[in-house]
Amino acid sequence: MSDFAIAVDLGGTNLRIAAISTDGRLLEKVTLSTKVDLSPDHVVGEMCDAIQHLCGRYRDGGALIGAGIGIPGIIDLEAGVVRKSANLPNWSGYPVREAIERRLGTRICMDNDAKLAALGEQWLGAARGVDSMAMITLGTGIGGAIVLDGKIFHGMNGMAGEFGHITIEPDGVRCGCGNRGCAERYASATGLVRMAREAIDSGEAPELAKAASCDAEFSAKSIYDLAIQGDKGAQLIFQRFGRALGMMLADIVNVLNLNIYVIGGGVVSAWDAFAPTMFEELHERSVVYAATVPEDLSGKKVGAAHNMDASTRKKTIVARAILGSDAGLYGGARLAAL
Ligand SMILES: [Zn+2]
Repeated sequence: MSDFAIAVDLGGTNLRIAAISTDGRLLEKVTLSTKVDLSPDHVVGEMCDAIQHLCGRYRDGGALIGAGIGIPGIIDLEAGVVRKSANLPNWSGYPVREAIERRLGTRICMDNDAKLAALGEQWLGAARGVDSMAMITLGTGIGGAIVLDGKIFHGMNGMAGEFGHITIEPDGVRCGCGNRGCAERYASATGLVRMAREAIDSGEAPELAKAASCDAEFSAKSIYDLAIQGDKGAQLIFQRFGRALGMMLADIVNVLNLNIYVIGGGVVSAWDAFAPTMFEELHERSVVYAATVPEDLSGKKVGAAHNMDASTRKKTIVARAILGSDAGLYGGARLAAL
């Protein structure tokens, strides 16, 4: 029997709602599909029905301490309004907090989904036991978040941590943000596929060309499968990816000097293919990293407070996220409890 929080991860595809105890146990998780074609009011209505249903099941065991909701895109946290979301195109200007609070009759907390994933990893994941950390989420783009002393650092208006738009190629590929050569044009799932297609077009990756021609869903996973089978063309793409990520990390490490940087997102399952180049580049380009490099580069020893020892405490650790897609739910529950 314990008190619990409700956490919501409102994605462009899935709407996930969980009851999580204050000591970090996932009591139950419900996954609905997000009906992006319908009005935000309709989606919020379904969300609130599911929240009320979950609350009803756990209310006898403990008190509901609050609800934390993660939303992709730019959120006006003061007003509780979605400003812009690529995954939820109908939601621009929608007063999401007020709409949910009106239906539930209780106050809720909300934040950007990548920021909540960082809070989740800090509370219970790869940075457990460390108060300050940053997280980089490699997906369609690159999400970023900074947690300082156990709290999300927002900057002036919630835009702190835009790591993906660090320039790594002065005259590089045009980015959706208007800049050229942003890290996310190279070190994201989209960047990986783009670089593979370029290599195919230039004739330097025959095996990739073969894979792409018979695979309608040619993706980061297809490139990874070839890389682990030893295909040089595919391996080279992951090295470019790792190099871009290492360059971006070098800037972040130089600026923030934190104990731990957690890398999450779907592409992280290809860690073995890009991490060696990433660490090499990071070591070469960051004076702060070079001065604080841990003996065990992979950061395997880190993962919880009890195994942070003298060899990792004052070192710069770059580690894989461990909570997967549930990180944002844990972060939402944590936010509600703070
Ligand atoms: Zn950009």
